[in-house]
Amino acid sequence: MERTRDAELRARAAKVVPGGMYGHMNGANLPPVFPQFYTEGEGAHVTDADGNRYVDLMCAYGPIVLGHRHPAVEKAAAAQRDAGDCFSGPSPRLVELAELFVDTVAAADWAMFAKNGTDATTVSLMIARAATGRRTVLAAAGSYHGSAPWCTPNPAGTTPGDRGDLGYFTYNDLASARAAADTAGDDLAAIIVTPFRHDAHHDQELADPEFARGLREICDRTGAALILDDVRCGFRLDLAGSWEPLGVRPDLSAWSKAIANGHALAAITGTDALRDAATRIYATGSFWCSAVSMAAAIATITELRRIDGPALMKAAGTRLRDGLAAQAATHGFTINQTGPVQMPFLTFAEDPHLDVANAWTSACVRRGAIVHPWHNWFMSTAHTPDAIDAALQATDEAFAAVRAGRP
Ligand code: PMP
Repeated sequence: MERTRDAELRARAAKVVPGGMYGHMNGANLPPVFPQFYTEGEGAHVTDADGNRYVDLMCAYGPIVLGHRHPAVEKAAAAQRDAGDCFSGPSPRLVELAELFVDTVAAADWAMFAKNGTDATTVSLMIARAATGRRTVLAAAGSYHGSAPWCTPNPAGTTPGDRGDLGYFTYNDLASARAAADTAGDDLAAIIVTPFRHDAHHDQELADPEFARGLREICDRTGAALILDDVRCGFRLDLAGSWEPLGVRPDLSAWSKAIANGHALAAITGTDALRDAATRIYATGSFWCSAVSMAAAIATITELRRIDGPALMKAAGTRLRDGLAAQAATHGFTINQTGPVQMPFLTFAEDPHLDVANAWTSACVRRGAIVHPWHNWFMSTAHTPDAIDAALQATDEAFAAVRAGRP
């Protein structure tokens, strides 16, 4: 597999970009065969800087939900681009998109927009604090909510004060959440939680419905806001909101990733009770009103509703999970597949240092499928049975190669 151009770009980046790359997309965090640079995407496939083509099971870490360069989304984006993207005020797309969110998301009476998931979670905390006049926010230890100083997983460059008003509980451990709420006492402003436990380097854990209902009950009892961080799961599990199947409605939800099929956009939605607080906080950004991403979001959400995107991703994810389970058994590997099938993840038993996971995912990449050794993967509606079968061809050969000691 040719890697000349990728290596050249990495060498140039090492001179002009800190660390060659930063954050979760730093190729140094992955085995060396993973491409650092990509040049093209189409449907279920991506092409790297050397021209190698892959079935993409990572979907840009979530944003690609209808497949790369979806025609209806790109047509809407192109039409808006022709008319203009950035004005001294929002375009009508802002109103249309807010109406679409309110119509689609069960717990949404209003919507406001930003750019990244971190904006959405951070603004949600501000609204909850403005509404309650309190400071403490509870989060699950190890849950990712973004890269702002209050939540970035690496504390370099932050102060203890940045997290001074946070308390922590253990995901799915209601007693620990109750204890943290007791400690916060009458200062509890909000609980922020992801729809299921999808921490990197950890098998995924679905939310225990009792845990979800228990968090709702704590918030109801104390007057705190329940914030659902739907940035990673949003519009993959349930278009009405990821805890809708559990019957637990948040007061605020944070969205980004999939809402505009790869165009930069985030959203905060909330209930009428929080509308006044959302009106009082000051939150904005030069590009938060860019009309192209909003046009793309309108097309994305409309299409997801039309084709029942979550059902399609569920079918694709089930085909993948069943195929991987059969292959692992045939090749004599004990694997754990966890989380909802729309967001697959696979680990190997007795693999604490990820030696097998790194070897197997490297073997998959060499054979034309992008998967990940320690972060969940993502399905899109472009993962047709043919695309899944092509990925399964690569994964099957990868299991055989690792078994033979030649990944
Ligand atoms: N919350 C969750 C649950 C996420 O998965 C992410 C991104 N991985 C974020 C927040 C932050 O989103 P962004 O990277 O767009 O700022």
